[in-house]
Amino acid sequence: MSDPTSPADLRQSNRERLLYLLRAHGAMTQAQLARASGLSPATVSSIARELRDEGWVEDVGTGGKRTALSLSRTAGVAVGIDFDHSHVRVAIADLAHNVLAEASEPLDVDHEAEEGIGLAGKMVRELLHDVGVGQERVTGIGMGLPGPLRRDTGEIGDSAILPGWIGARPEAMMSEELGMAVRVENDANLGALAEIVWGAGRGCSELLYVKVASGVGAGLVLNGRLYGGHAGTAGEIGHVTVDESGPVCRCGNRGCLEVYAGADAVLEPLRRRHGARVTLRQVIALAQEGDLGCQRVIADAGRSLGMTIAGTCNLLAPERVIVGGELAAAGEILLEPLRTIAQRSAIASLRATPVLQGVLGERAEVLGAVALVLRESRRYVAEPPAGQPAM
Ligand SMILES: [Zn+2]
Repeated sequence: MSDPTSPADLRQSNRERLLYLLRAHGAMTQAQLARASGLSPATVSSIARELRDEGWVEDVGTGGKRTALSLSRTAGVAVGIDFDHSHVRVAIADLAHNVLAEASEPLDVDHEAEEGIGLAGKMVRELLHDVGVGQERVTGIGMGLPGPLRRDTGEIGDSAILPGWIGARPEAMMSEELGMAVRVENDANLGALAEIVWGAGRGCSELLYVKVASGVGAGLVLNGRLYGGHAGTAGEIGHVTVDESGPVCRCGNRGCLEVYAGADAVLEPLRRRHGARVTLRQVIALAQEGDLGCQRVIADAGRSLGMTIAGTCNLLAPERVIVGGELAAAGEILLEPLRTIAQRSAIASLRATPVLQGVLGERAEVLGAVALVLRESRRYVAEPPAGQPAM
């Protein structure tokens, strides 16, 4: 451990203070920075020169003849990549958490990992080119995948939604594709981070985030940190047993939550009436238009989720529960029955735990991948500002 009061550490912490002020308040003159930070004008001036030389800040006019300092738009960017069962998404954000560019491309569920990596790599290079930022300004790359990632081997576990990725080592593959280190997290963990930074979980340090889409997974934030469990595979709430004699799940067990609340559970009973190719999006739209059958299957999924969420609340006592993923777009049709069961099964002190709809929709995971990078790059960034991610 280095001496926390060494001159180098002090200078680093002063730099962080100034960068934080610029992020929180926008452009400021050096005099304003000195007043707000409590640092001497000489120290502010010296650090400002250093930050300007390194490209972290730039001079901007403030109308009068005085110039102000502002975070440089190209000081650095975070890259987020997310794969779900049908798309790959890429987002690029500056260090002030402004999203500069986003793109998404369809991807077949049965694609091979190499194909997905290649497409995402191409999208990242194109978007960086579009926003005019060279790769040397990329402070980090975060990537989300719909499945558990084993920390010890770097492999995607066998309950992943994308069959072509099982056993693949995505961190190594994407690092090689882009020539940079990449952090990979499962999609539900990233959804939890994004909702904490930008969404319905802001300010929350104990959060249960449940993603309900093709699969069902949870992201746990405990004591302000993502909880990975042994080997990093925590959060497989979709494979909690609901009925031991229920239908066989893709994980090989019977009667898992996902069998009752995943996309197939919602779609299967409706195919006779709405056709074999009916999608979750269509079912949600029909339910919102008053279709009783669609409302019923979504409510049934909500009740199954509610039971397992109550058990998880009893175990972990989160401050808030956020439901995200494609099915969360059903809103109260899903959440009202979910809450009813969750309240009935939770212990008395936890019955009032708020259960909220995620607000970031299909962007949650790719924004979470960006948030993962920004959290890791604390040397140069500070807490995110309030408000939605800018477009
Ligand atoms: Zn299962």
